[in-house]
Amino acid sequence: MRIDVLTLFPAMFTGPLTESILRRAQDDKLMKIDIHDLRKWALGKYKQIDDSPYGGGAGMVMRVDVLSAAIEEISGGLRITDNGKKGSKSEIRNPKAHRIYFSPRGKKLTQTRVEQLAKKDHLLLLCGHYEGVDQRVIDGWIDEEISIGNYVLTGGELPAMVLIDAVARQLPGVLGKEASAHEESFSKALDRKKEYPHYTRPEEFRGMKVPDVLLGGHHKKIEQWRKEQLR
Ligand code: SAH
Repeated sequence: MRIDVLTLFPAMFTGPLTESILRRAQDDKLMKIDIHDLRKWALGKYKQIDDSPYGGGAGMVMRVDVLSAAIEEISGGLRITDNGKKGSKSEIRNPKAHRIYFSPRGKKLTQTRVEQLAKKDHLLLLCGHYEGVDQRVIDGWIDEEISIGNYVLTGGELPAMVLIDAVARQLPGVLGKEASAHEESFSKALDRKKEYPHYTRPEEFRGMKVPDVLLGGHHKKIEQWRKEQLR
């Protein structure tokens, strides 16, 4: 899978994408993630990306001319063209990516949607900042608006990392042998319920014991117990 991220703050992605499982997934070529600095498409002498909102009010809005140029260069597949002529600047150059904008107004992300997105070849993730983006970006260049919950963050970068992480776990080979995305919270295998609790050594810690059933080695009983523990 290929993922392109458009952001004003590329450095935020260092860490989450360069450690542990996501690092290995990229090293193993199971996913290719490119972080693009939106400043590359900034306009004019002052390298402008945002502007004050029409109608007044606080905050800044990210500009449609800047964002559309970035999205077109990365993903092609326009809905709105400059002049519609073949060979114009707006000609499709790359395979069309599924274009996502993160927004509190979007549809709330679920495990089911994560599984569906993991089947796509190419995602483009647009991270808003400040007040968000000009609505024409969403109308013209975005396929899907996603929210990660009913609260407001300072930017779409953390939501993008949340999505990348959740999608990565669904890609074949990413979790390796020791773990499987098959039987986990919200998975189909667990009826979309939340997973049972886990225990490891020691058997007893400060008077707190591991449930007897897990020590018995009776697979049917363990399975039954785990089923009862789902929420
Ligand atoms: N003015 C907006 C909030 C802007 S927050 C409003 O009232 O809805 C700045 C950016 O952070 C947004 O453009 C979006 O990309 C991101 N963001 C904030 N909260 C989010 C959430 N819950 N889910 C997804 N993205 C979010």
